[in-house]
Amino acid sequence: MSQNIPKVQKVAVVPKAGGTIEIKNDWPVTQQKDLKPGECLIKMEASGCCHTDLHAALDDWPLKAKTPLIGGHEGVGTIVAIGDHTDNSPVKLGERVGIKWLADSCLNCEDCRKGREQNCDHAKLSGFTVDGTFAEYVVSFVRHVTPIPEGFDSNAAASILCAGVTVYRAIKYSRTEQGDFIVIPGAGGGLGHLAVQYARARGLRVIAIDTGDHKKKLVQSLGAETWIDFKESKDIVADVKKATGGKGAHSAVVTSASSGGYTQALEYLRAGATLMAVGLPGEATLNASIFFTVFRSISIIGSYVGNRQDAREALELAARGVVKVHFETRDLKELKNTYDGMSNGKVAGRIVFDLTK
Ligand code: NAD
Ligand code: ZN
Repeated sequence: MSQNIPKVQKVAVVPKAGGTIEIKNDWPVTQQKDLKPGECLIKMEASGCCHTDLHAALDDWPLKAKTPLIGGHEGVGTIVAIGDHTDNSPVKLGERVGIKWLADSCLNCEDCRKGREQNCDHAKLSGFTVDGTFAEYVVSFVRHVTPIPEGFDSNAAASILCAGVTVYRAIKYSRTEQGDFIVIPGAGGGLGHLAVQYARARGLRVIAIDTGDHKKKLVQSLGAETWIDFKESKDIVADVKKATGGKGAHSAVVTSASSGGYTQALEYLRAGATLMAVGLPGEATLNASIFFTVFRSISIIGSYVGNRQDAREALELAARGVVKVHFETRDLKELKNTYDGMSNGKVAGRIVFDLTK
């Protein structure tokens, strides 16, 4: 069960924790005979670059990634080999599939059975605990790869596999109803610009927080009703309250990679509102008044990527054009520059690497 598979490939690898990225052209490709049951080999077409990849490369999280590490977890490609003795594979050779952060989970534990596959004790994480999508060939797992809807461009689909599914799920569980106000700090970034669109698709009124004219134009073009520049605003809480007729927003989905986006969120939410914590600064803590969290019936929910079903739902909306990834395509050797741009807040939307070159 395999096609012509080369012995070596191009990858972007971080040799040790916090080390510099190296592009290698002679990295071994796992051959069909070496795949374990349940594993498949995917010839990659495209991979998005998520801020999580930057956290992993910088080693700035309390969790440690494998080393050496091939990052990347927003990938699309075609299955070119499946391990022998793989029973009941839901995908087949030649099928185009997506690789998400959650590469695999056991599907048998309480977390998996309850649909929180991402919390499985046996979870394997692409570009973190197993090598990821910044490569021409990737080993993944048949039961967790996501079929890509026919006709949906691979470069456009890639970022739905992390950014898309993550914000899709966060909004799904934000306890909001049509016509409610939702604040999105980080709205101009990879996750944020998709959150604006998934929120609009649910009939929510979006208050976008980020900085710079480029991101302002982007989020306004995607349907954000109110724009707040966090570097220019003198009082973000007052600005949100004003935009919501004085009472504050029904929810906030915080997608900034630094703690800044969380700082005022609890103050600009109305009573009964829900804070969806999505952005993952490694060291920060959330400083919530216990008294007012109780008194104002505020819910604080951590929302971590999504399960197989969330991925399918998020992709379906994007394939139908309801949500569009705003992306620029680059060569994999631009990974370091891309990380630099991301660190400086210069990337609006997503950078997607074309892995067919
Ligand atoms: P990104 O760099 O593309 O976007 C982050 C955006 O936040 C930028 O546009 C930046 O200008 C903006 N920002 C910075 N400070 C801000 C502030 N004080 N207020 C408002 N906006 C601010 O990053 P991304 O790829 O969208 O990822 C964002 C974060 O989400 C990262 O920490 C990443 O690790 C995390 N993430 C979490 C999950 C999850 O499952 N919860 C999944 C994927 C990514
Ligand atoms: Zn990601």
